[in-house]
Amino acid sequence: MPPTTEVVGLTRRPFCFTLTQLGASRMAVTDESGTSRFWSGPAGAGAVLRLIRDGEAVTRAELARRTGLARSTVAQRVDALLDHRLVYEAGGSESTGGRPPTVLAFNHEAGVVLAADLGATHSRLAVSDLAGVPLAEVTQELDIALGPEAVLNWVQDRFTDLLADVSRKPEDVRGVGVGVPGPVSHATGQPVSPPIMPGWDGFSIPGWFAGRYGAPVLVDNDVNIMALGEHWTSWRDVDHLLFIKVGTGIGCGIVADGDIHRGAQGAAGDIGHVRISGHDDVICRCGNVGCLEAVAGGRALARQLTESGVKASHSRDVVRLVREGNPVATRLIREAGRGLGEVLAGCVNFFNPSVIVIGGDIGQVHEQLLAGVREVTFRRSLPLATGDLKTVASQLGDRAGVIGAAIMVIERVLAPDVIDREIQASAESGAAA
Ligand SMILES: [Zn+2]
Repeated sequence: MPPTTEVVGLTRRPFCFTLTQLGASRMAVTDESGTSRFWSGPAGAGAVLRLIRDGEAVTRAELARRTGLARSTVAQRVDALLDHRLVYEAGGSESTGGRPPTVLAFNHEAGVVLAADLGATHSRLAVSDLAGVPLAEVTQELDIALGPEAVLNWVQDRFTDLLADVSRKPEDVRGVGVGVPGPVSHATGQPVSPPIMPGWDGFSIPGWFAGRYGAPVLVDNDVNIMALGEHWTSWRDVDHLLFIKVGTGIGCGIVADGDIHRGAQGAAGDIGHVRISGHDDVICRCGNVGCLEAVAGGRALARQLTESGVKASHSRDVVRLVREGNPVATRLIREAGRGLGEVLAGCVNFFNPSVIVIGGDIGQVHEQLLAGVREVTFRRSLPLATGDLKTVASQLGDRAGVIGAAIMVIERVLAPDVIDREIQASAESGAAA
């Protein structure tokens, strides 16, 4: 591998909290059948953790009010979370008199998550805390077509380096998230006939990582993780959002009712191969003519620039030329925005999103691209659908994928039912000991 790796961000924070005595509060309560019953369910310890994480209830009294549980039961749930270091006591809250109630806070240092955003030619990896904040990152040119063994060996080596950079051990890893530039079966973590990933079809990415970390490995399409990262970071109060990645190709991640919508076969959002008008002479790599990606994708724009006498070989060349003020590149990117707008106008009428976020390499020159998108989307969509529609540039830029991969894992491993099972299993093993 070429030695172009660099650590692009490293934040160390002090271990800034105190924990209550560990172990003393551990207990198991079982019913006649021997099943532990105090921890799980809609108001189990996992649900209590969710309320604390979201900042919706941060004292024992608030938790009792929100869950309807007895204060003694809330105290048990909180003790279990303290015991597992998932929360800590952050000190007293504002109070009008008497002793202030203790404020509980989520311990985002109770483990780390490893995240990889694998692109066609460029990858970004990070180790992040449980709030989704990258603690250290690395980027490198890496051809996904090298195949799964070569690419994942490189990923594994970088993960080892990143953990060392932040002084964490493999046992601290709570999960691994991987995004790949192609269709994926999210349930199994296997790419499905990915067009630009030779050797990856049906390859089990979680299977490859098995035994390396005692933690789940989740895999998704790169556009879906970017949509998740952007939604979670900037638009959590929005239920319906489209994230458009305009890079070498063009794809769309769909957030519907607050969750990623993948479709029946995981192929939802493949807008790159929707036909646009006036380009019947352009043949796409998929074999059809006039596809959006074949007209407005980064590869297509680079080709059109080269044909006009301006040398460009990939999407980042196009971005550089636009930033340098090259008039041909600027005109082409605005036209690309109009082509994208034509497809998005249909998406807006069909899906009625509140927000469209434009990201990806080409999305970095968003002013020129967004001008074209807005022009056509608003002209062609119905007024009801565009009334409150926002079309904006990605806030996370080229970190959307790696942050989204981390969030995908965090939301899974901190889900209430997963936390309930973890606490119950340890209570049972504690009772058996
Ligand atoms: Zn096509």
